[in-house]
Amino acid sequence: MSAAIRWMMTGAGQPIALAEFDPFQPAANEVVVEIAGCGVCHTDLGYYYDGVRTKHDLPLTLGHEISGRVVAAGTDARSWVDRGVIVPAVIPCGSCDACRRGKSTICPNQKMPGNDIHGGFASHVVVPARGLCPVDEAKLKASGLDLADLSVIADAVTTPYQAVMQAGVQAGDLVIVNGVGGVGGYAAQIAHACGGTVAAIDVNDDKLAAIAESGAALTLNARSLAGRELKAAIQAFAKQRGLRATEWIIFECSGTRAGQEAAFGLLNHGATLCVVGFTMDKVEVRLSNLMAFHARALGNWGCPPELYPAALDLVLSGRVKVAPFVEKHPLDEINQVFEAVHHGALKRRAVLVPAH
Ligand SMILES: [Zn+2]
Ligand SMILES: [Zn+2]
Repeated sequence: MSAAIRWMMTGAGQPIALAEFDPFQPAANEVVVEIAGCGVCHTDLGYYYDGVRTKHDLPLTLGHEISGRVVAAGTDARSWVDRGVIVPAVIPCGSCDACRRGKSTICPNQKMPGNDIHGGFASHVVVPARGLCPVDEAKLKASGLDLADLSVIADAVTTPYQAVMQAGVQAGDLVIVNGVGGVGGYAAQIAHACGGTVAAIDVNDDKLAAIAESGAALTLNARSLAGRELKAAIQAFAKQRGLRATEWIIFECSGTRAGQEAAFGLLNHGATLCVVGFTMDKVEVRLSNLMAFHARALGNWGCPPELYPAALDLVLSGRVKVAPFVEKHPLDEINQVFEAVHHGALKRRAVLVPAH
């Protein structure tokens, strides 16, 4: 067996350092995944640049959007060997009270690669077999995608998928997605695939142009429209399309203070506000608007592994496109890629691909 390598974060802002390790000692319920690709998420940048603490002590291998092939397994997980898989970004224990009641995203024993355990910026990763999402090889081939492209399903696709399911988007709904970058673009595509008519808001015209080709019926640049004008523009669009002037479903994916304030300002009667993006910033809102509008606000942390196959199916069937929104880079350029993502130099989500 060739040497396995992983890139270790040793401290905030310190160069990420290469190390060899031996992954081939999995516990009975674990598998060894030879990594095809691992997406770079803003959560990784939060750990690396902003001092957000990982649960596992440093040094730690970051990366929680992992796809690959199982090359070895413990005694209880042998059936996974040779299969292509997506590793869930949040792996619940499956046996605690929350898990048994179907609330696995709040499992207190959950493991997140690149946070609780070593993650995917590596040649191999050792993870529990529980929750792995198998990839149908024939469908993958027919899709024109490769296994590395599917890495972004763990998190960038499944987190908004869970948000869309939780909000109950269906045909006839007017859906507003605020922030159509890495995660929000998929929120827009998934909501569209569920029958919603999507209005996309961003401050970046390139991102708006990209999502206009992939499911958004209306695009609005928040730089050129104030809060009230945004709402008025969407009201006019709803009227023109014969959609409801109430019960809008709003996905806040920008993870910015301005974006969260704008999203809250779009509430109407019976509205649903889904908070998908994250920021440490606080916003000032009149929370009583939820009461006055009989509206609701929902959050979601990751996505239960049992929803992954349906999200994967949306991608493999072409109803949700990933290829135009990812770009692959060699894993050994991790330090340069982090810098580029940090400075907003990449238009698409970076997927780091190890050499095998
Ligand atoms: Zn993430
Ligand atoms: Zn649990």
